[in-house]
Amino acid sequence: MAVTDHVDLNQFMEGVKKRNPYQPEFVQAVQEVAEDIFEFMEDKEEYHAQQILRRIAEPDRVVSFRVCWEDDNGNIRVQRGWRVQNNNAIGPYKGGIRFHPSVTESVLKFLAFEQTFKNALTGLPMGGGKGGSNFNPKGKSVREIMRFCQSFMTELYRHIGADVDVPAGDIGVGGREIGYMFGQYKRITNHFTGVLTGKGLEWGGSLIRTEATGYGAVYFLENMLATKGEDLVGKTAVISGSGNVATHAAEKIVQLGGKVLTLSDSGGFIHDPDGIDQEKINWVKTHKTHRRGRIEEYVEAFPKASFHAGKTPWGVPCDMALPCATQNELLGEDAKMLVANGCRAVSEGANMPTDLDGVHTFKHAKLLYAPGKASNAGGVAVSGLEMSQNSERRSWKEEELQQMLKDIMAGIHERCLTYGDQGDGHIDYVKGANIAGFKKVADAMLAFGVV
Ligand code: NDP
Repeated sequence: MAVTDHVDLNQFMEGVKKRNPYQPEFVQAVQEVAEDIFEFMEDKEEYHAQQILRRIAEPDRVVSFRVCWEDDNGNIRVQRGWRVQNNNAIGPYKGGIRFHPSVTESVLKFLAFEQTFKNALTGLPMGGGKGGSNFNPKGKSVREIMRFCQSFMTELYRHIGADVDVPAGDIGVGGREIGYMFGQYKRITNHFTGVLTGKGLEWGGSLIRTEATGYGAVYFLENMLATKGEDLVGKTAVISGSGNVATHAAEKIVQLGGKVLTLSDSGGFIHDPDGIDQEKINWVKTHKTHRRGRIEEYVEAFPKASFHAGKTPWGVPCDMALPCATQNELLGEDAKMLVANGCRAVSEGANMPTDLDGVHTFKHAKLLYAPGKASNAGGVAVSGLEMSQNSERRSWKEEELQQMLKDIMAGIHERCLTYGDQGDGHIDYVKGANIAGFKKVADAMLAFGVV
Protein backbone atom coordinates (compact mmCIF):
# COMPACT_ATOMS: atom_id res chain seq x y z
CA MET A 1 0.00 0.00 0.00
CA ALA A 2 1.33 3.46 -0.85
CA VAL A 3 1.95 5.67 2.17
CA THR A 4 -0.71 8.13 1.14
CA ASP A 5 -3.46 5.48 0.94
CA HIS A 6 -5.94 6.22 3.69
CA VAL A 7 -6.75 3.70 6.34
CA ASP A 8 -10.18 4.15 7.89
CA LEU A 9 -10.87 4.48 11.62
CA ASN A 10 -11.41 0.74 12.12
CA GLN A 11 -8.21 -0.19 10.31
CA PHE A 12 -6.31 2.44 12.27
CA MET A 13 -7.64 1.12 15.60
CA GLU A 14 -6.88 -2.48 14.62
CA GLY A 15 -3.26 -1.39 14.14
CA VAL A 16 -3.20 0.41 17.50
CA LYS A 17 -4.58 -2.71 19.23
CA LYS A 18 -2.05 -4.96 17.50
CA ARG A 19 0.90 -2.78 18.38
CA ASN A 20 -0.21 -2.31 22.00
CA PRO A 21 -1.39 -5.69 23.27
CA TYR A 22 -2.66 -5.85 26.86
CA GLN A 23 -2.88 -2.05 27.03
CA PRO A 24 -6.65 -1.44 27.17
CA GLU A 25 -6.49 2.02 28.77
CA PHE A 26 -4.12 3.29 26.09
CA VAL A 27 -6.23 1.83 23.27
CA GLN A 28 -9.36 3.40 24.82
CA ALA A 29 -7.76 6.86 24.99
CA VAL A 30 -6.57 6.66 21.37
CA GLN A 31 -10.00 5.47 20.21
CA GLU A 32 -11.78 8.37 21.90
CA VAL A 33 -9.53 10.86 20.13
CA ALA A 34 -9.36 9.02 16.79
CA GLU A 35 -13.17 8.99 16.45
CA ASP A 36 -13.15 12.78 16.15
CA ILE A 37 -9.83 13.22 14.37
CA PHE A 38 -10.69 10.90 11.49
CA GLU A 39 -13.76 12.98 10.72
CA PHE A 40 -11.73 16.19 10.93
CA MET A 41 -8.92 14.81 8.70
CA GLU A 42 -11.26 13.62 5.97
CA ASP A 43 -10.33 16.43 3.59
CA LYS A 44 -6.85 17.15 4.99
CA GLU A 45 -4.45 15.13 2.91
CA GLU A 46 -1.26 16.31 4.58
CA TYR A 47 -2.19 14.96 8.02
CA HIS A 48 -2.87 11.58 6.42
CA ALA A 49 0.23 11.57 4.23
CA GLN A 50 2.45 12.51 7.15
CA GLN A 51 0.82 9.89 9.42
CA ILE A 52 0.41 12.52 12.13
CA LEU A 53 -2.11 10.71 14.36
CA ARG A 54 -0.18 7.46 14.09
CA ARG A 55 2.95 9.34 15.19
CA ILE A 56 1.23 11.05 18.15
CA ALA A 57 -0.11 7.63 19.21
CA GLU A 58 3.43 6.24 19.38
CA PRO A 59 5.26 7.75 22.40
CA ASP A 60 8.62 9.37 21.64
CA ARG A 61 9.98 7.01 24.29
CA VAL A 62 8.96 4.93 27.29
CA VAL A 63 11.60 4.61 29.98
CA SER A 64 11.06 1.71 32.37
CA PHE A 65 13.28 1.18 35.37
CA ARG A 66 13.75 -0.74 38.60
CA VAL A 67 13.19 1.10 41.87
CA CYS A 68 14.77 -0.61 44.88
CA TRP A 69 14.22 0.64 48.40
CA GLU A 70 14.46 -0.61 51.97
CA ASP A 71 11.39 -0.69 54.21
CA ASP A 72 11.41 0.09 57.93
CA ASN A 73 12.02 -3.57 58.78
CA GLY A 74 15.12 -3.75 56.62
CA ASN A 75 13.43 -5.72 53.80
CA ILE A 76 14.51 -4.92 50.25
CA ARG A 77 11.52 -3.99 48.12
CA VAL A 78 11.46 -3.78 44.32
CA GLN A 79 9.02 -1.67 42.30
CA ARG A 80 8.83 -0.64 38.66
CA GLY A 81 9.06 3.01 37.63
CA TRP A 82 8.27 4.60 34.26
CA ARG A 83 8.46 7.88 32.42
CA VAL A 84 6.46 8.09 29.21
CA GLN A 85 7.56 10.99 26.99
CA ASN A 86 4.76 11.11 24.49
CA ASN A 87 5.33 14.19 22.36
CA ASN A 88 7.42 17.38 22.62
CA ALA A 89 6.36 19.11 19.41
CA ILE A 90 5.21 22.29 21.17
CA GLY A 91 7.34 22.35 24.33
CA PRO A 92 9.19 20.24 26.92
CA TYR A 93 7.39 17.08 28.03
CA LYS A 94 5.11 17.90 30.95
CA GLY A 95 2.84 15.73 33.08
CA GLY A 96 2.46 14.27 36.54
CA ILE A 97 3.91 11.34 38.43
CA ARG A 98 1.46 8.80 39.88
CA PHE A 99 2.19 6.37 42.72
CA HIS A 100 -0.60 3.79 42.92
CA PRO A 101 -0.71 -0.02 42.76
CA SER A 102 -2.92 0.19 39.64
CA VAL A 103 -0.16 1.94 37.64
CA THR A 104 0.92 0.04 34.53
CA GLU A 105 2.63 1.03 31.30
CA SER A 106 -0.81 1.13 29.65
CA VAL A 107 -2.19 3.58 32.23
CA LEU A 108 0.82 5.88 31.90
CA LYS A 109 0.76 5.73 28.09
CA PHE A 110 -2.91 6.73 28.08
CA LEU A 111 -2.21 9.57 30.51
CA ALA A 112 0.78 10.84 28.48
CA PHE A 113 -1.28 10.68 25.26
CA GLU A 114 -4.15 12.64 26.85
CA GLN A 115 -1.69 15.09 28.36
CA THR A 116 -0.35 15.95 24.89
CA PHE A 117 -3.77 17.27 23.80
CA LYS A 118 -4.56 18.85 27.16
CA ASN A 119 -1.32 20.79 27.29
CA ALA A 120 -1.84 22.04 23.74
CA LEU A 121 -5.33 23.25 24.71
CA THR A 122 -3.96 25.45 27.52
CA GLY A 123 -2.26 27.66 24.94
CA LEU A 124 1.05 27.27 26.82
CA PRO A 125 4.20 25.74 25.28
CA MET A 126 4.16 22.29 26.89
CA GLY A 127 4.48 18.80 25.38
CA GLY A 128 2.93 15.68 26.91
CA GLY A 129 4.42 13.14 29.31
CA LYS A 130 3.50 11.12 32.38
CA GLY A 131 5.29 8.89 34.86
CA GLY A 132 4.88 6.86 37.97
CA SER A 133 5.21 3.60 39.75
CA ASN A 134 3.12 0.72 41.06
CA PHE A 135 4.35 1.70 44.56
CA ASN A 136 1.47 1.93 47.05
CA PRO A 137 2.01 4.82 49.48
CA LYS A 138 -0.92 3.66 51.64
CA GLY A 139 0.24 2.26 54.96
CA LYS A 140 3.86 3.34 54.39
CA SER A 141 5.73 5.44 56.93
CA VAL A 142 6.95 8.92 56.00
CA ARG A 143 10.54 7.65 55.97
CA GLU A 144 9.62 4.79 53.65
CA ILE A 145 7.98 7.25 51.28
CA MET A 146 11.08 9.44 51.40
CA ARG A 147 13.37 6.52 50.60
CA PHE A 148 11.13 5.42 47.75
CA CYS A 149 11.01 8.95 46.24
CA GLN A 150 14.80 9.24 46.46
CA SER A 151 15.33 5.89 44.77
CA PHE A 152 12.78 6.77 42.06
CA MET A 153 14.58 10.04 41.31
CA THR A 154 17.99 8.35 41.29
CA GLU A 155 17.04 6.94 37.88
CA LEU A 156 14.51 9.55 36.72
CA TYR A 157 16.96 12.48 36.96
CA ARG A 158 18.76 11.31 33.78
CA HIS A 159 15.63 11.75 31.70
CA ILE A 160 14.24 15.10 32.91
CA GLY A 161 15.29 18.75 32.96
CA ALA A 162 13.78 22.25 32.99
CA ASP A 163 13.88 22.37 29.16
CA VAL A 164 13.50 18.62 28.62
CA ASP A 165 10.75 17.15 30.76
CA VAL A 166 9.13 18.70 33.83
CA PRO A 167 7.10 16.26 35.97
CA ALA A 168 4.51 17.26 38.62
CA GLY A 169 2.29 15.39 41.11
CA ASP A 170 -0.74 13.19 40.47
CA ILE A 171 -2.50 10.44 42.46
CA GLY A 172 -0.35 9.56 45.48
CA VAL A 173 2.15 12.33 44.77
CA GLY A 174 1.58 15.64 46.56
CA GLY A 175 3.81 18.44 47.88
CA ARG A 176 5.66 16.16 50.27
CA GLU A 177 6.68 13.65 47.59
CA ILE A 178 7.64 16.45 45.16
CA GLY A 179 9.86 17.81 47.97
CA TYR A 180 11.67 14.50 48.44
CA MET A 181 12.14 14.08 44.69
CA PHE A 182 13.35 17.65 44.18
CA GLY A 183 15.78 17.26 47.11
CA GLN A 184 17.25 14.14 45.52
CA TYR A 185 17.45 15.74 42.06
CA LYS A 186 19.33 18.68 43.55
CA ARG A 187 21.65 16.41 45.50
CA ILE A 188 22.59 14.39 42.40
CA THR A 189 22.89 17.19 39.86
CA ASN A 190 23.77 20.20 42.03
CA HIS A 191 21.29 22.19 39.90
CA PHE A 192 18.50 24.30 41.41
CA THR A 193 16.22 24.53 38.38
CA GLY A 194 12.48 24.33 37.70
CA VAL A 195 12.67 20.62 36.95
CA LEU A 196 9.49 19.74 38.86
CA THR A 197 6.29 21.69 39.49
CA GLY A 198 4.02 21.58 42.50
CA LYS A 199 6.97 22.69 44.62
CA GLY A 200 6.66 24.33 48.05
CA LEU A 201 6.31 28.12 48.06
CA GLU A 202 9.66 28.56 49.81
CA TRP A 203 11.57 26.76 47.08
CA GLY A 204 10.15 27.85 43.75
CA GLY A 205 6.51 26.77 43.92
CA SER A 206 3.59 28.81 42.65
CA LEU A 207 0.60 30.08 44.56
CA ILE A 208 -2.71 28.36 43.66
CA ARG A 209 -1.03 25.31 42.04
CA THR A 210 -2.63 23.05 44.67
CA GLU A 211 -6.11 24.41 44.07
CA ALA A 212 -5.81 24.87 40.30
CA THR A 213 -7.14 21.56 38.92
CA GLY A 214 -10.29 21.49 41.04
CA TYR A 215 -10.95 25.23 40.73
CA GLY A 216 -10.29 25.07 36.98
CA ALA A 217 -12.80 22.22 36.50
CA VAL A 218 -15.46 24.38 38.16
CA TYR A 219 -14.52 27.47 36.11
CA PHE A 220 -14.95 25.32 33.01
CA LEU A 221 -18.36 24.19 34.30
CA GLU A 222 -19.28 27.84 34.84
CA ASN A 223 -18.29 28.62 31.23
CA MET A 224 -20.41 25.73 29.93
CA LEU A 225 -23.45 26.77 31.98
CA ALA A 226 -23.06 30.36 30.78
CA THR A 227 -23.68 29.20 27.18
CA LYS A 228 -27.20 28.34 28.42
CA GLY A 229 -27.52 31.57 30.38
CA GLU A 230 -27.14 29.72 33.71
CA ASP A 231 -24.80 29.73 36.70
CA LEU A 232 -24.05 27.47 39.66
CA VAL A 233 -26.22 29.19 42.25
CA GLY A 234 -28.56 26.72 43.96
CA LYS A 235 -27.44 23.78 41.79
CA THR A 236 -26.55 20.41 43.31
CA ALA A 237 -23.31 18.60 42.52
CA VAL A 238 -22.22 15.00 42.90
CA ILE A 239 -18.45 14.62 43.18
CA SER A 240 -16.31 11.47 43.35
CA GLY A 241 -12.90 11.30 45.03
CA SER A 242 -11.73 13.10 48.16
CA GLY A 243 -8.18 14.00 47.16
CA ASN A 244 -6.66 17.15 45.82
CA VAL A 245 -8.92 17.60 42.78
CA ALA A 246 -12.20 16.56 44.44
CA THR A 247 -11.84 18.74 47.56
CA HIS A 248 -10.86 21.84 45.60
CA ALA A 249 -13.65 21.32 43.07
CA ALA A 250 -16.05 21.05 46.03
CA GLU A 251 -14.62 24.21 47.58
CA LYS A 252 -15.09 26.28 44.41
CA ILE A 253 -18.65 24.99 43.88
CA VAL A 254 -19.55 26.07 47.41
CA GLN A 255 -17.88 29.48 46.85
CA LEU A 256 -19.97 29.99 43.69
CA GLY A 257 -23.25 29.16 45.45
CA GLY A 258 -23.71 25.48 44.56
CA LYS A 259 -24.42 22.57 46.92
CA VAL A 260 -22.11 19.52 47.06
CA LEU A 261 -23.88 16.26 47.97
CA THR A 262 -21.19 13.56 47.78
CA LEU A 263 -17.48 12.72 47.99
CA SER A 264 -15.86 9.29 47.79
CA ASP A 265 -12.71 7.21 48.00
CA SER A 266 -11.80 3.68 46.97
CA GLY A 267 -13.93 2.35 49.86
CA GLY A 268 -17.24 3.94 48.82
CA PHE A 269 -19.06 7.28 48.87
CA ILE A 270 -20.67 9.54 51.46
CA HIS A 271 -23.95 11.34 50.79
CA ASP A 272 -24.66 14.44 52.83
CA PRO A 273 -28.13 15.79 51.97
CA ASP A 274 -27.44 18.97 53.98
CA GLY A 275 -24.55 19.78 51.66
CA ILE A 276 -20.79 19.55 52.21
CA ASP A 277 -19.90 23.11 53.19
CA GLN A 278 -16.45 24.69 53.62
CA GLU A 279 -16.10 23.53 57.22
CA LYS A 280 -16.85 19.94 56.21
CA ILE A 281 -14.49 20.20 53.22
CA ASN A 282 -11.73 21.34 55.58
CA TRP A 283 -12.45 18.31 57.74
CA VAL A 284 -12.12 16.01 54.69
CA LYS A 285 -8.86 17.68 53.63
CA THR A 286 -7.31 17.19 57.05
CA HIS A 287 -8.72 13.71 57.48
CA LYS A 288 -7.74 12.35 54.04
CA THR A 289 -4.53 14.22 53.33
CA HIS A 290 -2.90 14.74 56.70
CA ARG A 291 -4.32 11.82 58.67
CA ARG A 292 -4.56 9.47 55.68
CA GLY A 293 -8.04 8.41 56.90
CA ARG A 294 -11.01 6.83 55.11
CA ILE A 295 -14.01 8.80 53.81
CA GLU A 296 -16.41 6.47 55.67
CA GLU A 297 -15.37 8.17 58.93
CA TYR A 298 -17.16 11.31 57.68
CA VAL A 299 -20.46 9.92 58.98
CA GLU A 300 -19.09 9.77 62.52
CA ALA A 301 -18.20 13.47 62.35
CA PHE A 302 -21.41 14.44 60.48
CA PRO A 303 -24.11 11.91 61.46
CA LYS A 304 -26.78 13.18 59.03
CA ALA A 305 -24.68 11.80 56.17
CA SER A 306 -24.73 8.18 55.00
CA PHE A 307 -21.89 5.95 53.79
CA HIS A 308 -22.33 3.55 50.85
CA ALA A 309 -19.58 0.93 50.89
CA GLY A 310 -18.07 -0.18 47.57
CA LYS A 311 -20.35 2.14 45.56
CA THR A 312 -19.85 5.17 43.30
CA PRO A 313 -22.10 8.23 43.75
CA TRP A 314 -23.65 8.43 40.27
CA GLY A 315 -27.10 7.24 41.39
CA VAL A 316 -27.65 10.34 43.56
CA PRO A 317 -29.90 12.79 41.65
CA CYS A 318 -28.06 16.04 40.86
CA ASP A 319 -27.79 18.96 38.45
CA MET A 320 -24.04 18.52 37.87
CA ALA A 321 -21.55 15.66 38.18
CA LEU A 322 -17.78 15.94 38.65
CA PRO A 323 -15.85 12.68 38.52
CA CYS A 324 -12.57 13.55 40.29
CA ALA A 325 -11.06 10.22 41.43
CA THR A 326 -9.60 8.03 38.68
CA GLN A 327 -9.97 6.52 35.19
CA ASN A 328 -13.02 4.46 34.21
CA GLU A 329 -14.95 5.23 37.39
CA LEU A 330 -18.11 6.29 35.54
CA LEU A 331 -19.43 3.56 33.25
CA GLY A 332 -22.13 3.48 30.57
CA GLU A 333 -24.84 2.46 33.06
CA ASP A 334 -23.83 5.27 35.44
CA ALA A 335 -24.01 7.79 32.61
CA LYS A 336 -27.52 6.58 31.71
CA MET A 337 -28.56 6.91 35.36
CA LEU A 338 -27.22 10.47 35.56
CA VAL A 339 -29.09 11.45 32.39
CA ALA A 340 -32.30 9.77 33.59
CA ASN A 341 -32.07 11.60 36.92
CA GLY A 342 -31.87 14.98 35.19
CA CYS A 343 -28.14 15.76 35.41
CA ARG A 344 -27.40 18.61 32.99
CA ALA A 345 -23.66 19.11 33.13
CA VAL A 346 -20.59 16.92 33.65
CA SER A 347 -17.12 18.36 34.19
CA GLU A 348 -14.34 15.78 34.51
CA GLY A 349 -11.72 16.56 37.15
CA ALA A 350 -10.03 13.18 36.75
CA ASN A 351 -8.38 11.86 33.57
CA MET A 352 -10.65 9.64 31.44
CA PRO A 353 -13.04 8.90 34.34
CA THR A 354 -15.84 8.08 31.88
CA ASP A 355 -15.55 4.91 29.80
CA LEU A 356 -16.31 4.94 26.06
CA ASP A 357 -19.90 3.79 26.61
CA GLY A 358 -20.43 6.65 29.03
CA VAL A 359 -18.86 9.17 26.65
CA HIS A 360 -21.21 8.03 23.88
CA THR A 361 -24.20 8.25 26.27
CA PHE A 362 -23.36 11.83 27.26
CA LYS A 363 -22.72 12.85 23.64
CA HIS A 364 -26.00 11.28 22.52
CA ALA A 365 -27.97 12.95 25.34
CA LYS A 366 -26.41 16.30 24.30
CA LEU A 367 -25.43 17.11 27.86
CA LEU A 368 -22.96 19.85 28.69
CA TYR A 369 -20.12 17.35 28.92
CA ALA A 370 -16.47 18.40 29.32
CA PRO A 371 -13.75 15.76 28.90
CA GLY A 372 -10.87 15.91 31.40
CA LYS A 373 -8.38 17.04 28.80
CA ALA A 374 -10.29 20.33 28.65
CA SER A 375 -11.82 20.72 32.11
CA ASN A 376 -8.95 19.52 34.30
CA ALA A 377 -6.23 21.42 32.42
CA GLY A 378 -6.11 24.15 35.10
CA GLY A 379 -3.53 22.19 37.11
CA VAL A 380 -1.04 21.78 34.32
CA ALA A 381 -1.71 25.36 33.22
CA VAL A 382 -0.63 26.72 36.61
CA SER A 383 2.32 24.30 36.45
CA GLY A 384 3.20 26.03 33.18
CA LEU A 385 2.97 29.36 35.01
CA GLU A 386 5.23 27.92 37.74
CA MET A 387 7.79 27.10 35.01
CA SER A 388 7.60 30.68 33.73
CA GLN A 389 8.07 32.09 37.24
CA ASN A 390 11.07 29.80 37.79
CA SER A 391 12.64 30.93 34.51
CA GLU A 392 12.09 34.58 35.45
CA ARG A 393 13.23 33.91 39.03
CA ARG A 394 10.22 35.68 40.47
CA SER A 395 6.81 34.90 41.98
CA TRP A 396 3.54 36.35 40.81
CA LYS A 397 0.83 37.50 43.21
CA GLU A 398 -2.16 35.35 44.04
CA GLU A 399 -4.69 37.72 42.41
CA GLU A 400 -2.68 37.71 39.17
CA LEU A 401 -2.54 33.91 39.13
CA GLN A 402 -6.24 33.51 39.97
CA GLN A 403 -7.09 35.75 37.04
CA MET A 404 -4.68 33.91 34.73
CA LEU A 405 -6.27 30.57 35.69
CA LYS A 406 -9.75 31.93 34.97
CA ASP A 407 -8.59 33.37 31.64
CA ILE A 408 -6.87 30.12 30.65
CA MET A 409 -10.00 28.08 31.41
CA ALA A 410 -12.11 30.56 29.41
CA GLY A 411 -9.55 30.27 26.58
CA ILE A 412 -9.80 26.47 26.59
CA HIS A 413 -13.58 26.75 26.53
CA GLU A 414 -13.32 29.11 23.55
CA ARG A 415 -10.98 26.72 21.70
CA CYS A 416 -13.46 23.87 22.28
CA LEU A 417 -16.21 25.98 20.72
CA THR A 418 -14.19 26.50 17.53
CA TYR A 419 -14.53 22.84 16.52
CA GLY A 420 -17.25 21.66 18.91
CA ASP A 421 -20.13 24.05 18.20
CA GLN A 422 -22.64 21.93 16.29
CA GLY A 423 -24.65 24.94 15.17
CA ASP A 424 -27.91 23.57 16.63
CA GLY A 425 -27.40 24.90 20.15
CA HIS A 426 -25.36 21.86 21.14
CA ILE A 427 -21.63 21.98 21.85
CA ASP A 428 -19.67 18.75 21.50
CA TYR A 429 -16.83 19.54 23.90
CA VAL A 430 -15.14 16.17 23.35
CA LYS A 431 -14.87 16.82 19.64
CA GLY A 432 -13.89 20.44 20.19
CA ALA A 433 -11.11 19.54 22.64
CA ASN A 434 -9.78 16.67 20.56
CA ILE A 435 -9.58 18.64 17.33
CA ALA A 436 -8.22 21.88 18.81
CA GLY A 437 -5.52 19.98 20.76
CA PHE A 438 -4.66 17.80 17.78
CA LYS A 439 -4.41 20.66 15.29
CA LYS A 440 -1.88 22.61 17.33
CA VAL A 441 0.41 19.61 17.85
CA ALA A 442 -0.08 18.34 14.30
CA ASP A 443 0.81 21.67 12.69
CA ALA A 444 4.02 21.87 14.73
CA MET A 445 4.89 18.31 13.67
CA LEU A 446 4.31 19.16 10.01
CA ALA A 447 6.84 21.99 10.33
CA PHE A 448 9.52 19.60 11.62
CA GLY A 449 9.29 17.13 8.73
CA VAL A 450 9.63 13.40 9.26
CA VAL A 451 11.37 13.06 12.64
P1 NDP B 1 -5.27 12.22 45.04
O1 NDP B 1 -4.29 11.14 45.27
O2 NDP B 1 -5.17 13.48 45.80
O3 NDP B 1 -6.77 11.66 45.27
C1 NDP B 1 -7.26 10.58 44.53
C2 NDP B 1 -8.66 10.28 45.02
O4 NDP B 1 -9.24 9.32 44.14
C3 NDP B 1 -8.71 9.67 46.40
O5 NDP B 1 -9.92 10.02 47.00
C4 NDP B 1 -8.66 8.17 46.09
O6 NDP B 1 -9.20 7.35 47.11
C5 NDP B 1 -9.51 8.11 44.85
N1 NDP B 1 -9.10 6.96 44.02
C6 NDP B 1 -7.87 6.74 43.49
N2 NDP B 1 -7.85 5.58 42.83
C7 NDP B 1 -9.10 5.07 42.95
C8 NDP B 1 -9.72 3.90 42.47
N3 NDP B 1 -9.05 3.01 41.74
N4 NDP B 1 -11.03 3.71 42.78
C9 NDP B 1 -11.72 4.62 43.51
N5 NDP B 1 -11.18 5.75 43.99
C10 NDP B 1 -9.90 5.96 43.72
O7 NDP B 1 -5.24 12.49 43.46
P2 NDP B 1 -5.71 13.78 42.67
O8 NDP B 1 -6.89 14.37 43.30
O9 NDP B 1 -4.51 14.62 42.41
O10 NDP B 1 -6.09 13.13 41.25
C11 NDP B 1 -7.42 12.65 40.96
C12 NDP B 1 -7.60 12.55 39.45
O11 NDP B 1 -7.38 13.85 38.86
C13 NDP B 1 -6.66 11.61 38.71
O12 NDP B 1 -7.33 11.06 37.60
C14 NDP B 1 -5.57 12.56 38.21
O13 NDP B 1 -4.86 12.03 37.09
C15 NDP B 1 -6.41 13.76 37.82
N6 NDP B 1 -5.67 15.02 37.72
C16 NDP B 1 -4.97 15.52 38.77
C17 NDP B 1 -4.31 16.71 38.64
C18 NDP B 1 -3.63 17.36 39.80
O14 NDP B 1 -3.24 18.54 39.66
N7 NDP B 1 -3.50 16.74 40.95
C19 NDP B 1 -4.24 17.42 37.34
C20 NDP B 1 -5.11 16.87 36.33
C21 NDP B 1 -5.76 15.68 36.52
P3 NDP B 1 -8.25 6.58 48.14
O15 NDP B 1 -7.82 7.61 49.13
O16 NDP B 1 -9.11 5.51 48.72
O17 NDP B 1 -7.10 6.03 47.33
